[in-house]
Amino acid sequence: MDTGIQYLKGVGEKRAQLLEKELGIRTVGDLLHLYPFRYIDRSTIVPIANVQPDLAQVQVKATVTKVRLYAKNGAELPPEKLKFNMVSRLSAMVSDNTGEMEMVFFKGVKWMYQRLVPGHTFIFFGKPAVFGTRLNMVHPEVDAPDSGTTGVLTGVYTSTERLKNSGFTGKVMLKLMATALDGVLPTLEETLPDYVLKEKGLVPLSYALRQIHFPQDQSALGKASYRLKFEELFLLQLSLLKQKYIRSRSIQGLKMPLVGEPFNRCYEALPYQLTNAQKRVIREIREDMKSGHQMNRLLQGDVGSGKTMVAVLTALIAVGNGYQACIMAPTEVLAQQHFANVSKYLAPTGVRVELLTGTTGIKDRRRIHEGLRDGSVGVLIGTHALIEDTVQFRALGLAVIDEQHRFGVDQRARLWSKGFGGIHPHVLVMTATPIPRTLAMTLYGDLDVSVIDEMPPGRKPVQTLCVGENKRHAMHNFIREEIAKGRQAFIVYPLIFESEKLDYKNLELGYEEIVKAFPLPDYKVAIVHGQQTPAEKAFNMDAFVAGRANILVSTTVIEVGVDVPNASVMVIESAERFGLSQLHQLRGRVGRGAERSYCILMRGYKISKESQKRLDLLCETENGFVLAEEDMKLRGPGDLEGTQQSGLPISLNIASLAKDGLILNDARSYAQLILDKDPGLTAPANAPLTAELRRDKYLVKDYSQIS
Ligand code: ADP
Ligand code: MG
Repeated sequence: MDTGIQYLKGVGEKRAQLLEKELGIRTVGDLLHLYPFRYIDRSTIVPIANVQPDLAQVQVKATVTKVRLYAKNGAELPPEKLKFNMVSRLSAMVSDNTGEMEMVFFKGVKWMYQRLVPGHTFIFFGKPAVFGTRLNMVHPEVDAPDSGTTGVLTGVYTSTERLKNSGFTGKVMLKLMATALDGVLPTLEETLPDYVLKEKGLVPLSYALRQIHFPQDQSALGKASYRLKFEELFLLQLSLLKQKYIRSRSIQGLKMPLVGEPFNRCYEALPYQLTNAQKRVIREIREDMKSGHQMNRLLQGDVGSGKTMVAVLTALIAVGNGYQACIMAPTEVLAQQHFANVSKYLAPTGVRVELLTGTTGIKDRRRIHEGLRDGSVGVLIGTHALIEDTVQFRALGLAVIDEQHRFGVDQRARLWSKGFGGIHPHVLVMTATPIPRTLAMTLYGDLDVSVIDEMPPGRKPVQTLCVGENKRHAMHNFIREEIAKGRQAFIVYPLIFESEKLDYKNLELGYEEIVKAFPLPDYKVAIVHGQQTPAEKAFNMDAFVAGRANILVSTTVIEVGVDVPNASVMVIESAERFGLSQLHQLRGRVGRGAERSYCILMRGYKISKESQKRLDLLCETENGFVLAEEDMKLRGPGDLEGTQQSGLPISLNIASLAKDGLILNDARSYAQLILDKDPGLTAPANAPLTAELRRDKYLVKDYSQIS
């Protein structure tokens, strides 16, 4: 398996270089781990009577009845003309006992004319089509009936233009695979222990490799692919869980045994009851913080599920144990809002809370820095500004990071280094972008995950509808009605980085249109976007939050966190340009007050089927996890929010996080079972596992260190 690919018969230096460059294949093993991405089913022969032009590819067995040659202008030519290269098309009529069809060739006509002798029978394989009223196939593959190509599933491999141009056709790939298998299989070492194969009912590796490339039938292919998928997911989970185990053993955490006075005072003064989900999550967090292990917890909860309260109470546990806490928000606006809310909650506790952002003045900054150093500031709220080097805590015990996917890895790492006495602070990462379970298990396999899966009482469902341009007037009228009831409306424009200019133009045009439709003095429209100064932004934002403006026109800067319970309408322009999770987050901005709320998705003229599907889904459900799962199925895990910036830290060869959730669950619990019995994987029976985990593929980036 580790032999260089250049030594494989039929490859050589030059082709080896190309294989490495184009597909990253360096060894025979790499080649064999390139699995077909689909199979051509040549196991059935279709009677011509059943051939439909919408079938992808079919195979017919038919006898040639008549062959004709045509010139460019369509005139029929006698066979003598073949010599003079005047023939531009060959048409062969073929029939089985159910019907007749035409096989058409524009290239290689001389050779085909010799081959397709009337009265002879062949297997034709290709894509059926209709020309006029006649069923035909253009350039089918032609094989003799006894050539052995029938009765098999033929693998199709990914390729590139350059590979194809250098002669790596499908047939050549298959040949290389066959050579590689013949060389490797006799001495192939099994990668999974015997007991694993037995307990999980898996086929041996040699069988799986042979069948994945050259399946004898569907059932063998199914067994092979199951084995390979299971192995891939199982080893990945084993690697992640092992890391988690090692971390919980080796990394010390700050011990915080008390609930503390500040927590209790705040809790008693709460204007509402915590939901059961909030209570459960706080219990989970508390267990972590008193354990002496460093907490590394991801808190997932839909928009409006009450994560802020959890952050506040968590911060107060740290304060109650003599430490400081910081809460980091991704935007200035959000940091300000957190500050306003948290100050309110902390009032009964006497804990000093400060806000530090990019716009904090020098004087205040100095005062805050001092308070952090002498420990008089208990809770610091801020943006990136709070991880600057000049910020020093006396005893940072907890860092809460809101909307984690907006922070870069480096920034998170810097926060880590501010821990007390060289000990990492406890870390609570909060996100409103639900990550599908399968993805969370893989991305954050070594983090603990808490979920708030319950909304505070009083939240009404948001009625969501998707409309086109023809409803724009109706939409304006509807907003007027809501404003007449004393409500407010958000109107959001997409902002896509690559065409920032264009987007602002859209936003400006949109703003003009809205101002015209909602003129002063009856209506006031605020606008917020990324090119404003922080002061302009704050001014407009405040006007809307305080209810002085009826409408807020904005780019997605408002998407995270802002709380305006009085807003009852969310209009999203060019909704098809947003991801599902993002749309869901935006929608979460309304439905916070007591009134009925609406989300109106304005769709563009030309939108793809897939986009429409996403919008329909949004109209159907308000469950963020369901949406995240579906988004992953539609777009694949690599495109999901939360993974775009970092990219998936792993690459899977055969398993799919979107489709193989069941196998993943099974693989994970089985990996856990094995580690429970043998945490170090030192038992002789587990030696093959230890060997496999050393492969690059399973050395997953350690997210626990950087979150
Ligand atoms: P998110 O999870 O999106 O950060 P927030 O923490 O901003 O949600 O909470 C949304 C709203 O719900 C806030 O106005 C908050 O005061 C309110 N809230 C939070 N928890 C509860 C609760 N248990 N009962 C009632 N209202 C709550
Ligand atoms: Mg929030």
